[in-house]
This record gives sequence, structure tokens and C-alpha cells, in this order.
Amino acid sequence: MNSEQAARLRAEMVERQLRGGGIRDERVLAAMARVPRELFVPAEMLSRAYVDGALPIASGQSISQPHMVAHMTELLDVRPGMRVLEVGTGSGYGAAVLAALGARVISMERLPELAEAARSRLAGLGLGLGLAEAVRVVVGDGSLGCPADAPFDGIIVTAAAPRVPAALPAQLADGGRLVVPVGMRAHQELVLVVRRGDSFEERDCGPCVFVPLIGEGGFSEPAPAGDSGSKPGRRRWFGRPHL
Ligand code: SAM
Repeated sequence: MNSEQAARLRAEMVERQLRGGGIRDERVLAAMARVPRELFVPAEMLSRAYVDGALPIASGQSISQPHMVAHMTELLDVRPGMRVLEVGTGSGYGAAVLAALGARVISMERLPELAEAARSRLAGLGLGLGLAEAVRVVVGDGSLGCPADAPFDGIIVTAAAPRVPAALPAQLADGGRLVVPVGMRAHQELVLVVRRGDSFEERDCGPCVFVPLIGEGGFSEPAPAGDSGSKPGRRRWFGRPHL
């Protein structure tokens, strides 16, 4: 796929999948029209870069479906200069979309190899789009947030938690917004939390399916491949990476 073909497919994605799928925020649509998703998918998935679905990336993880990226980003109501924490860097695509909206992003990833790959992808992209300096990728358990850099105007969690991770709402600035998939490993509900002083308003924003958030504020480690998960104290892995 050359860059002209990619630009055409991206414009179609924005009109058909995003605008046609109910995304209304013109700034989100413009940001997603700018970020070349084909640079964030594995080479063997290139022909599917603009299909409206999640795609597998390295380490058994996934790059989220474009419509879900747009929906979550719209809920976050990103404004230029906002400080945003992304939990779950994955490919780095979501962080690039946030940066394209003018956010200053800290993106946390628990798997060092994914964090490193995302860093170099974003650096390469920065040459053309000037986004790299707006994103700092940090390796760590994002289910605990990033207290040293709090408060955040927005927190977006791109992996599923069994409940709203307790550490995160407290790291929101007043008026700040947190978007997080909450539920079981197999399916979840997207939850929006808005901070108003010392109180937190919560709203359900539709069903979703994400890979699990693994960490203190998330699920426990998946059992290794081939392990039935039946040993005492072990959770069985039955989530499929859809988003
Ligand atoms: N935003 C990503 C993108 O645009 O490609 C998609 C993220 S993928 C659906 C979820 C990511 O969350 C995976 O890369 C996974 O390793 C990461 N993850 C899971 N638990 C985590 C945790 N506790 N802290 C940070 N990252 C975590």
C-alpha cells in the first residue's frame, strides 16, 4: 500500500466507519484522518489496516478497532494542551490520535517490548507529523495510574478491568474524564467517570470487548499457553483479544 492509497482508505474509513457510525466530533474525525494507521499494524496485516476491526499485534495484544478509538476519544473530550494518561500503549496508535488532537500524553504499557516498538514507531511518525514529542511512553502497571505525573485532564484505559481501578479517579483533575472498559474478561461496558470536586459521576457508554488489564487494579496474569488454568489460585484465560 503506498501513501496515496493509504490516504484514500483513511478518508473512506473516516466517512463510512466513523462519521457513518455516529462519531460527531469533527476534531476527532480530523485527527483520525491524519494518523496513518497502516504504520501501526504488523506488515502481514497491512491490507487490513483500514478495515473496521481490531487487529493482532505482537505479544498476543491488539490494536483497537478504529470506531472504538474514535468513540473513547470523543468521550474524553480532548482539548489542545490537555494532559492525558493512556493505559495500554499497545501499538501506539491511540497515543498518536490523542497527540494529533493536541494532548500531551503519558502512555503506559506493561510489556517492555511493546513499549519500545511503540516508541520507535512514534519517533518515526514524529518526523512527518510532529507527534512524537507530545507522547511519553512509560513501562509499568498502568492500573495504578501514574501518581508522579497526576493530575490528568483525561485518562483512557484501553484494556478491560474487573472494576474501575481504584487509583485512577483520584488522579483526575477537577472536571477531568476517565474512560475505561469494565466487566468480565469476555465482555465489558465502557464506563465514563467525570470528576466534580470530590465527587465522581459515572455513566455507562455501551458494550465493548477488550484484552484484559493485567495488574494490581486489573485482572491477575493469564495462565501460560497450554496451562488449563485449573491449578488452585490460577485464573483461566478465556478472553480473546478483540479490541
Ligand atoms: N491503545 C492501543 C493501540 O492503539 O494499539 C491498544 C491497546 S491493547 C487493546 C491493550 C494494551 O494494554 C496491551 O498492549 C496490553 O499489554 C496493555 N496492558 C494490559 N494491562 C496493562 C497494565 N496494567 N498497564 C499497562 N498496560 C497494560
